[in-house]
Amino acid sequence: MDYMKKSVKDVDVKGKKVLLRCDFNVPQDADGNITDDKRIREALPTLRYLLDEGAAVIVCSHLGRPKGERKMKYTLTPVAKHLSELLGREVSMSFDITGPDALRLCSEIKPGQVVMLENLRFDPGEEKCDSEFSKKLSSFADIYVNDAFGAAHRAHASIVGVAEYLPAVSGLLIEKELRVMGGAMENPEHPFIAIMGGAKVSDKLGLIGSFIGKCDAILIVGGMAYTFFKAMGGSIGSSICDDKSLELVKDLMAHAEEKGTKIYLPLDTVVSDTFSNDGNFETVEAGHVPGTFMGMDIGPKTVEKYGEIIKSAKTIVWNGPAGVFEMPNFSRGTEGIARAVAESEAVSIIGGGDSAAAIEKLGLENKVTHVSTGGGAAIEFLEGLELPGIACLLDK
Ligand code: AMP
Repeated sequence: MDYMKKSVKDVDVKGKKVLLRCDFNVPQDADGNITDDKRIREALPTLRYLLDEGAAVIVCSHLGRPKGERKMKYTLTPVAKHLSELLGREVSMSFDITGPDALRLCSEIKPGQVVMLENLRFDPGEEKCDSEFSKKLSSFADIYVNDAFGAAHRAHASIVGVAEYLPAVSGLLIEKELRVMGGAMENPEHPFIAIMGGAKVSDKLGLIGSFIGKCDAILIVGGMAYTFFKAMGGSIGSSICDDKSLELVKDLMAHAEEKGTKIYLPLDTVVSDTFSNDGNFETVEAGHVPGTFMGMDIGPKTVEKYGEIIKSAKTIVWNGPAGVFEMPNFSRGTEGIARAVAESEAVSIIGGGDSAAAIEKLGLENKVTHVSTGGGAAIEFLEGLELPGIACLLDK
């Protein structure tokens, strides 16, 4: 199993230089202020562990999409400053990634000290997984630790390339993601229920397909429900729909029936005449969305029905909001699902992205078993796909 990988606890880091890949891709406002430091706080356990064990830590991450160019809008300097405040020790910011400043700081670094390299994506070699760039990056350290679960599905230099040159292990964050999600997926207690929502149907059909035969029920919510309704011959008005996925959805429904996995579609839908919080809205029967209206959320009957199914579950995976939860008029469905999942006694896994944001917004993150820090990576992992950034770590 992929989750049987070595972690920082399985190697001796005392007196060693450690290259630590974090996911510091934090949201910032127009002035560069960090608006949510969750990703930085999540890196603290591994960082503190390494420092306490006597390692010197060279931290690296990407931020945004500078596309191989040095664009100062995406500098990691504010992240280094904030990390330093949270850690209570100095974090020396390198001007470059593999240039003279990094070389100097990384050769002078001592156990207990932290250096942060500049945004990895300033170098085109990062996303291309260039071997020269990987080699230079790894030359600074004795051990490579990956704790960036959110980027583990990307075969980039700092995720995969460096593992060719250094012993590679996971940090505590990735270790937890693999243990909890891997454990739950390997032998889920039944009833095993998946709740699938969000807007991007095509990204999630693979995951839904992998749940067929494994799950007892799949509850469809959010924007993806309209592609299902259209495939089944329902009226969806001007709701979001992925016409390219209609045939696949029909196949999935047939396959689910064959395998005994029940796919539930919403009973009612909150519709609006504009894609905004200020439009006229009402609740209608699902699959009967009138003309120019669009489906924005699941309705109260669906919340109630799904709530009962969720209550009976022993294992729950939830990925994707039940509606346009960013708009208060259309957030009730997502809130209802979040509360039902939080109240359930089941092993509950929130597969990252917007469902994680919704659970956190409601302050319910401690009422579920696990909130993944990966969006796309969590989907691929739950689907049973091999993540390049996990596959390259040393086996236990
Ligand atoms: P995803 O990245 O696929 O998980 O999609 C998340 C996005 O789906 C959120 O920004 C939601 O606003 C959006 N979403 C959820 N339900 C709907 C809907 N009925 N119509 C349009 N967008 C939706």
